[in-house]
Amino acid sequence: MAIKNKPDDFFDELEIMPPETREKYHNQQLSQTVEHAYRHAPAVKAIFDKAGISPDQIVTVKDLEKLPITRKTDLIELQRKSPPYGGFLTIPPEDVDRVFLSPGPIYEPIQHAGIKWFAKAFWAAGFRKGDVVINTFTYHLSPAGILFHEALRDCGATAIPMGTGNTEIQIQTMYDLKVTGFVGTPSFLMTLIKRAEEIGDNFQKDFTLRRAWFTGEMLAPSVRKTLEEDYQIDTCQAYAVTEPGGAIAYECSEKTGMHLMDEYVIEIVDPETGKQLGPGETGEIVVTPVHNKVWGLIRFGTGDLSSYITEPCPCGRTASKLTGILGRASDAVKVRGMFVVARQAEQICLSFDQISRFQIMVTRREQRDEITLKAELKQEATEEGKRKLDNDLKLKFLDICRIKLDWIDFVAKGTIPEEQPKIVDERTWE
Ligand SMILES: [Zn+2]
Repeated sequence: MAIKNKPDDFFDELEIMPPETREKYHNQQLSQTVEHAYRHAPAVKAIFDKAGISPDQIVTVKDLEKLPITRKTDLIELQRKSPPYGGFLTIPPEDVDRVFLSPGPIYEPIQHAGIKWFAKAFWAAGFRKGDVVINTFTYHLSPAGILFHEALRDCGATAIPMGTGNTEIQIQTMYDLKVTGFVGTPSFLMTLIKRAEEIGDNFQKDFTLRRAWFTGEMLAPSVRKTLEEDYQIDTCQAYAVTEPGGAIAYECSEKTGMHLMDEYVIEIVDPETGKQLGPGETGEIVVTPVHNKVWGLIRFGTGDLSSYITEPCPCGRTASKLTGILGRASDAVKVRGMFVVARQAEQICLSFDQISRFQIMVTRREQRDEITLKAELKQEATEEGKRKLDNDLKLKFLDICRIKLDWIDFVAKGTIPEEQPKIVDERTWE
């Protein structure tokens, strides 16, 4: 496979490490992080002691399976019991540079040491010196404003701290300062464009916006198409989580998944057992930051579901890629060892024009899980039409959810009430 990029298209050497080097690098970073956290963070010591594990038993990424997953609810609870940092701070409090707040509240201490690596999520999206960028994330409380601002600066771009809201001022600034880049959510960019058009501007002609970087909300393929084709704005997205400290996966120009950031050890696990899953298998994203030693978070469970692919990327970056955020672990049901995610099922059903509503029933017969898709048709179809739809739905379901649908039940319009859960688990375990 030909590599499209030149060496200066990469932000650092880590992005192009051969897989064996990456494995060694992560194992080494992980042992150091674990050792440091165990020694300096009482909460981490308590977690290890309870699991009967010592830090020297964590030698490889695989060894993380021996430790429990810490979730947002645990952090809130621990910080309440042991304020303010829940026993996860590994340095004297007076050395903390800044503290971010997440809903909960959760206090996240950062000892800012020029975390330049964070910029690679913006570098891969093409931000460079000469770009003038509005950062429309909030500069209050949460890390997005200030961290993304500094990351843009580290790419050489001029960053404008716009924050949220103030639509008219944002539009005026974009026009006056000939803004070339946008950082924020896809929906906010669409709001700005629509508002500019409402007040009589011709967005394509009067504005210089050429690049947009999104996180916080997944970019719908239709919105991406509109931005790229109708407005010639190149789009890139990243996956960011505040508790472990920022963007953990980012798109490259290929836009076929988000490369994992090497400053974190990222696992995809079965949320029930904590066991690591292989490529293509859907599970919860679990993150251990190995480059913020101040904050001894080990195995933070994000609650978000994804899967990863290991195929080489034509951009030349060698890290695996997350395939996107498929939903929340709490909205998924495990069937025959695979997660069926409500949002994924919804995407499949909505891609068929004939279907107005759907519901998935999971049942158990003779020790085997069965999945039935109830599909409500907009109008009565012929037998042949139903046979074709049955076949197409099953193929698409297998392709996207990687599990076979056993039955499809076509029901008349109005059969599935609107407020019904998308997945109903009727299995009994006697
Ligand atoms: Zn790539």
